[in-house]
Amino acid sequence: NADAAMYRAKELGRDNVQFYAPELNSKNQEKFLLQEELRNALARGEFVLLYQPQVDLRSGRVFAVEALIRWQHPTLGLISPMKFIPMAEESGLIVPIGDWVLHEACRQNKAWQDAGLPPMMVCVNVSARQFKEPNLISRVVNALKDSGLEAQYLELEVTESLIMQDVDMAVAMMNELQGLGVRISIDDFGTGYSSLSALKTFPVARLKIDKSFINDLATDKNDQAVASAVISLGQKLHLRVIAEGVETDDQVEFLRRNNCDEMQGYHFSKPISAENIAELIDKVRGSG
Ligand code: C2E
Ligand code: MG
Ligand code: MG
Ligand code: MG
Repeated sequence: NADAAMYRAKELGRDNVQFYAPELNSKNQEKFLLQEELRNALARGEFVLLYQPQVDLRSGRVFAVEALIRWQHPTLGLISPMKFIPMAEESGLIVPIGDWVLHEACRQNKAWQDAGLPPMMVCVNVSARQFKEPNLISRVVNALKDSGLEAQYLELEVTESLIMQDVDMAVAMMNELQGLGVRISIDDFGTGYSSLSALKTFPVARLKIDKSFINDLATDKNDQAVASAVISLGQKLHLRVIAEGVETDDQVEFLRRNNCDEMQGYHFSKPISAENIAELIDKVRGSG
């Protein structure tokens, strides 16, 4: 099948002069092959979700997990979403893939609850293309209905740049989602251009400080300024603030000192399988 895709790539490239530039050639071919295979990956069950815990900085409790997709490619191994999500956006495949993520994350969260774990939220990333789909609402309703998960245990993560593409549309959509009882957070906060005056009209529950501001938090004065400004902004707007990409004790220390609410990062746990989440929660519970 890979050979067939390669052959088609060549066929399609026949009249495309650029295609024969040596460098573009191999790059384009690789991309084309992946794009072809991405089309089949869903039907072949090649996607998996990992989950990364989010921890309350005061109580130490895991109150949520973020679902993060991986593509288990039969020959290339595990492929990062950074590589295939942009491709899926481009081709529109993100819509069925995103729908699968939504269903799977809700199903898994309900399964944890049914197994006796304390109820937590599952956070699902939603990309711009998915958000613009007119039937996003009914897709969310269906995922909740099919899984039996209560809406309050689902959160959707959208980015600032997604919202800013069309603020009115985004606010209308977010209001509808909120009406269902689903929560919304703003991912990668600080990297986009959301107007601060617009922010207070957004029906969102949380801001996620982008990890680019967390990396050098222990030493970089500018990052410290941005992080503490986002934390106070959140407090003033009555939004919870979570720091992502937290890896070190120093970073945790800074966040605690500045009254950040929550954290997510390798310091507590990398993204792990659903089974390992159940184990980890049991352990945290056991140790008080
Ligand atoms: P994101 O939503 O901002 O997710 C956080 C990313 O930071 C994840 O990368 C996570 O593994 C990584 N991360 C978490 N803690 C740390 C840390 O302490 N240090 C470092 N260096 N990294 C950390 P991942 O899983 O590779 O996902 C990358 C991006 O792909 C996500 O960024 C999100 O934008 C997108 N993505 C992932 N899953 C989905 C999905 O199901 N649907 C959509 N539309 N996008 C997704
Ligand atoms: Mg996210
Ligand atoms: Mg993020
Ligand atoms: Mg990010």
